[in-house]
Amino acid sequence: MAIGDVTHGEPIVRDTPSKEGPTAVLDAVAECAREAAQSAHIRGLAIGIPGPIDPGAGIVHDAPNMTGWNEVPAAALLSERVGCPVVICHDAAAAGYAELKAGAGRGAQYLLFITVSTGIGGALFIGGDLYDGATGSAGEVGHTPISDHGPPCGQGHPGCLEGTSSGTAIANRARAEVAAGRPSSLQGIDPAAIDARSIATAANAGDALALEVFHDAGRALGRAIGGFINVLAPDVIVIGGGLIHAGDLLLKPARTAATEIAFEIPYRRCKIVTAALGTDAGLIGAVAWAVRSFGGVPAGMR
Ligand SMILES: [Zn+2]
Repeated sequence: MAIGDVTHGEPIVRDTPSKEGPTAVLDAVAECAREAAQSAHIRGLAIGIPGPIDPGAGIVHDAPNMTGWNEVPAAALLSERVGCPVVICHDAAAAGYAELKAGAGRGAQYLLFITVSTGIGGALFIGGDLYDGATGSAGEVGHTPISDHGPPCGQGHPGCLEGTSSGTAIANRARAEVAAGRPSSLQGIDPAAIDARSIATAANAGDALALEVFHDAGRALGRAIGGFINVLAPDVIVIGGGLIHAGDLLLKPARTAATEIAFEIPYRRCKIVTAALGTDAGLIGAVAWAVRSFGGVPAGMR
């Protein structure tokens, strides 16, 4: 968890007490906000939260990996603690908004942000602003169908993009192939230690299984991207998340596969780039979202 403030610059960073329930997390956020403000008046606070959420009502329906977050009125509870208006946004939307305002998609009118890490999330920006649909949930690109027979994602959808191309999916596939006796340098490591990073290392050393796993994940990502280009004709697609460190292992097959699905003119018009803001994107995006919601312009964004 990190809290930014629009005037003093340096973020305040704390571990999220994610297993202690919403009250402990919200208390910690409020404490960070007061510390960041240094006794100055807080005009407004925006917070990026893993969804599903209802941004309009300020409610977190469920927050994966955090204990007890079911139908929590997070905006109202934080507002009581900090004494200012509070808006919540999806964490992928916050990261995407940062890339739109200050990162790899700066100035785009039609931007699709895709984050590929343990899961796959995203956010869509139309006319330079977030499009989140009737329920605040639009932009869930990770659950695009890829095939009838692919493995399920964490939500149980058979054959969706997240079930095929996320870091979790890549690790699951490699572990299964190793367990089935497929020759690979990954046979030499503890199965629990097989993750996207160790598979990328093996692939970069020429391991055929690791290369194939990334190739297939990249192709599925690219086919989905080709479809997004056809539906949305974005001017920029920004790909973020931890897996961008795999570089061409993932992105080269993705670019090739995208051309097989996308119409030529919108494909040529669309820049496909990697995110520029790294792990700070969520924080920068939340600051930008606070500015959008409550006014004021931080020094770094003028
Ligand atoms: Zn899914």
